[in-house]
Amino acid sequence: MAYEYKILIDGKLTESLRGETMEVINPANGTRVALVPKCGPEDVDLAVAAAQRARAAWRNTYVGERSELLMRLAAILRAHEAELVPLETAQYGGPISKTSKFDIPFAPAEFEFIAGLGRGLTGLTISADPTARVMTFREPCGVVGLITPWNFPLVTAVSKLAPALITGNTVVLKPASCAPLTVLKLGEYIVEAGIPAGVVNIVTGPGPSVGEAIVKHPGVDKINFTGDSGVGKRIMSLAAPRVMPVASELGGKNAMIVLDDANLDAAAEGATYAAFFNSGQNCGSPSRFYVQEGIYDAFVERFVKSASKIVVGDPMDPKTMMGPLAYKACRDTAERFIAGAKAAGAKVLLGGDRPLSPDMAKGAFVMPTIFEVYDNRMELMQEEIFAPVVGVMKIKTPEEAVALANDSRYGLCASVWSSDYRKAMLLTEELKVGTAWVNQHLAIVSETPWGGQKESGWTKENSVLVLEEYTYHKHLWVNMAETPNTFWKEYIS
Ligand code: NDP
Repeated sequence: MAYEYKILIDGKLTESLRGETMEVINPANGTRVALVPKCGPEDVDLAVAAAQRARAAWRNTYVGERSELLMRLAAILRAHEAELVPLETAQYGGPISKTSKFDIPFAPAEFEFIAGLGRGLTGLTISADPTARVMTFREPCGVVGLITPWNFPLVTAVSKLAPALITGNTVVLKPASCAPLTVLKLGEYIVEAGIPAGVVNIVTGPGPSVGEAIVKHPGVDKINFTGDSGVGKRIMSLAAPRVMPVASELGGKNAMIVLDDANLDAAAEGATYAAFFNSGQNCGSPSRFYVQEGIYDAFVERFVKSASKIVVGDPMDPKTMMGPLAYKACRDTAERFIAGAKAAGAKVLLGGDRPLSPDMAKGAFVMPTIFEVYDNRMELMQEEIFAPVVGVMKIKTPEEAVALANDSRYGLCASVWSSDYRKAMLLTEELKVGTAWVNQHLAIVSETPWGGQKESGWTKENSVLVLEEYTYHKHLWVNMAETPNTFWKEYIS
């Protein structure tokens, strides 16, 4: 049987060994977009073996050469942008207005950024003993398993793949099952770019079988995972017997704090953009709003007004601002949370239902939804919903807002909105999060580090810090003294 999309193992585009396939469904209308290979552990064995074989030659390749290959890959990606944009939209519902500006152009830009950054990687020289020369060498981790989610499918994969490759690792990559197509296209471009066989291997298939086979494989040296916190914990438990490191970018339940002296229009527009961009399916989106009492009513009025103008519809239409959720189960989850919030006494300020248009009846759509809430321990304020569903709560003081923001098992990001920069900045120091913004939310670029605290994980992605995730510092101590070192002389004399 001929497949539209193939996995990449040892430099060859191929089918799964068992020949099984799985469907990729368009969440906007329920139609099939493609069939992709459904791999099993036996395909993972081949992928890991290929990555191991390629390892020595790749780590010993001059970094400038690796950089050139990444630049070549970036150029190929750019040449295929027009084809990739609708594919990304079709597989997970991100509106074309977004996939054409963010998802797809960010992928080559990330390869280019890392291709330059990685050439500057250095170790340390250490003044530990005048009779010795002490230094660290940066060594690749080895074979790295990359497991990625469906929101921003291509760019989340590239933001792991690029630093892994520039630092000399070989890779087994598994994209999310509902949206693997642009990553499989990337596999074709990897071959075209001339990246040596086995350096990148891409397998597709269910997380519990294929993902876990990667994690449990003794030939894998490190995992870098982005996804749900519960899945992250499962992966860490599987890695624990070998004490294998698991870099993790996990879920978020992010707070936006709006104080009495905030610029109201900016805060309301910022809230609308950050909460509902990509249908709220961003790990960094705010879903808890703590608004000070002096401006509460005015902020809520503006926020609701601005969110009610979001155009929900066919993601292929350039005018659409919000498409469907990534698949129907995501909509079911969102609707469960909406029903739970209503039952718990939260007041619907906007949305809370599906769009009325019959055109959207077959899609996984949920309207932008804003609740007014009174209790921070409500499920709506504690659980990650990953949908356009948020809660707004009135607070009295900035200190109360910070305490409520920190009352969460997550710690990915948060923002403070105020015209008093000193006050706002001091408040951010109290927030237990990996990223804090002042008068901004969801600004994430290649140059800035991204990652959380608490159950949001601890890894850093992007920025110069990402290179730490894919290398070890190997410490080397060279005794330069002509006589034996005094350390042991004291013991043996
Ligand atoms: P999941 O955790 O469900 O899936 C992520 C990846 O893990 C997929 O490739 C999935 O495969 C795989 N997987 C699932 N189960 C296992 C398992 N037992 N062992 C190994 N791999 C497994 O996340 P989603 O794809 O639903 O993405 C949404 C989540 O990702 C949200 O929680 C969001 O907050 C988080 N996220 C965090 C980011 C951050 O930077 N902190 C950025 C983006 C998203 P399959 O698709 O086959 O199930």
